[in-house]
Amino acid sequence: MSRRTVSILGATGSVGTSTLDLIERHPDRFEVVALTAARNVAALADAARRTYAKLAVIDDEALLPDLKQRLEGTNCRAAAGKDALAEAAAGGAGWIMAAIVGCAGLEPVMAAIDAGRTVALANKESLVTAGALMTEAAARSGAAILPVDSEHNAIFQCLAGNRPSDVAKLVLTASGGPFRTKSRDEMAAMTPEQAVAHPNWSMGAKISIDSATMMNKGLELIEAHHLFGLASERIDILVHPQSVVHSMVEFIDGSVLAQLGSPDMRIPIAHALAWPERMETPAQRLDLAGLASLTFEAPDDERFPALKAARSALEAGGAAPIALNAANEEAVAAFLQRRIGFLDILGIVVETMAQASAEPPRSIADVIDIDREARAKATHLMSEMAA
Ligand code: NDP
Repeated sequence: MSRRTVSILGATGSVGTSTLDLIERHPDRFEVVALTAARNVAALADAARRTYAKLAVIDDEALLPDLKQRLEGTNCRAAAGKDALAEAAAGGAGWIMAAIVGCAGLEPVMAAIDAGRTVALANKESLVTAGALMTEAAARSGAAILPVDSEHNAIFQCLAGNRPSDVAKLVLTASGGPFRTKSRDEMAAMTPEQAVAHPNWSMGAKISIDSATMMNKGLELIEAHHLFGLASERIDILVHPQSVVHSMVEFIDGSVLAQLGSPDMRIPIAHALAWPERMETPAQRLDLAGLASLTFEAPDDERFPALKAARSALEAGGAAPIALNAANEEAVAAFLQRRIGFLDILGIVVETMAQASAEPPRSIADVIDIDREARAKATHLMSEMAA
């Protein structure tokens, strides 16, 4: 494999640092072009120094002087703000890791897609809010979108070499999160610390809360629809608490293919990094004999209403998925700041979504407008609750 040029959007986060870990183990295979972060200047500058990156971008412009100072004596240029993020996404590297959290990642992802890059997509919120626009743009520019989310990466691997017309359905597995066995009454009292304590995966705060509400699986349902082009009724969700089977594809002849591995994001990230080849990872090897058992159960829509909410957003289309995502981002942030309770998150999401227009967005600017409006509605609902 020739040396691949790579940039990481969201280099200081959980997916970003796992990507850096793999790249730094294989300096002969990867050349880092650009790294970005929102506010964590120290970690950004440190990673840029270690990897000899050419560009480091901080979203918060007030932090640019600090970044510049930390990069003194290197050949790495420091930049800040939205235009610089777009430059990091579209310029220089052929392979881009999209690992910004939330809808904030949408514009940089679109810049990479419009430039025809290979985009390793962790930032599921961009597909949830602008899936059709993104896949159309990729078809126009020739960009490849490689799924990094472990479930979608598993499906991508299972589909390889098969005809789309031979697929019967997709089965997304879900760990069930830290509250899988909890009652609604117990969930009502849960704190942010309890909600971020995922039993199998170590992840950023937002996706950890999404796993506790199971909104993460709801977002993944919409993500799967856009990535693989299947309707909602052909995408099932199955709870699998051990997180060993990462997802499955059922074919028309009744065969089911699954991808398995230890719950370590470096496996799907490595798959995208080396694609279409493979590379070594330090991830723990699966010891199936050592695992007592693998279990599966149907999801409980009563205790986890996020699944139904996401499915109805996907089926309603229009602005509903954007409203669902925006309200969820606002409500999760409020829960993390202890402004609302755990069960309030879904209430805010469902109520915001109910007011969404049936008109689909025609441009990324439309998506951003709908997102902004939905955030304002969700914020208003939360202030009414507090009053
Ligand atoms: P983290 O919160 O750990 O990291 C987020 C990254 O994005 C950080 O580098 C952060 O910078 C940057 N960032 C945050 N807000 C902005 C903004 N407004 N503008 C620019 N950059 C920003 O998130 P994760 O790594 O957990 O998740 C990233 C994405 O990957 C999410 O969409 C998530 O759903 C998805 N994903 C994550 C998995 C995981 O295992 N963590 C698994 C599958 C998917 P700073 O550090 O400065 O705040």
